[in-house]
Amino acid sequence: MGNVAAMPETVQPTAPPSVAICPQQQTVCGRDYNGGWKHAFGTRCNRWSCEVCGPQRTRLLCKRLAAGKPNRLITLTCGRPAGREPGEVWEATRRQVPELIRKIRKQVGDIEYARVMEVHKSGYPHYHLVVRSPFIDQQLLSKWWCHLTEAFIVDIRKVNPTWKVAEYLSKYLTKQLTVPFTTSRCSFSRGWDLKEEDDDKPTYDLREASRESCKLRSYLDWYYPDAEIDWLTPSHAIITSAGQIIGDLWEDDDDDDGNW
Ligand SMILES: [Zn+2]
Repeated sequence: MGNVAAMPETVQPTAPPSVAICPQQQTVCGRDYNGGWKHAFGTRCNRWSCEVCGPQRTRLLCKRLAAGKPNRLITLTCGRPAGREPGEVWEATRRQVPELIRKIRKQVGDIEYARVMEVHKSGYPHYHLVVRSPFIDQQLLSKWWCHLTEAFIVDIRKVNPTWKVAEYLSKYLTKQLTVPFTTSRCSFSRGWDLKEEDDDKPTYDLREASRESCKLRSYLDWYYPDAEIDWLTPSHAIITSAGQIIGDLWEDDDDDDGNW
């Protein structure tokens, strides 16, 4: 057997993984308050129904549900009162959730919660609350909820730590991408996930900001046709005073505008 030449080691170019871009992406650009560097941000539509933003929101939601370290799961039904449309029931009951929480805080002790609304096949809503709380008596809970909404079917169970509550709930949201009567399907109590300090992450105070109805990449190609672009994140490009374009190293996956 003759010598077989060793395969040369292939050197992979170091580029960030390609991330899908929201089909509705627009570009917001402006000049840095201090530096004179220009920043161009690719926006996203953030809709549950968007093929790119929807899965991203699900990922973020899972992360946020788990971050609150829940130990119980409460299901609150809303009933189907005669002559009332699902949207009316939603309007009437969603405000009762914080009322119920106030009651629990007063009678039982500290509780933090994340609320995920699910729509039943009938079109009527019910609520899943992922909570971090002491023991709550089911009958008392049922009595309080009934007092607030006239619906009494309430379930409370301890969350087994091995049970992936976040994935379980986010499943509902991906299954039903749109709900006819609202876009706000999740909410969180103030103390749910005490956000870690993120002092390193820069904030930008942009001047002469403007919005262009094109994608970030097209914006850069149009205005800076001669600039060298090594690689680019889908959401942020920095244009230095020397006309060089650099990507932003920060993962944009962690951006959470708080609007659920
Ligand atoms: Zn989108």
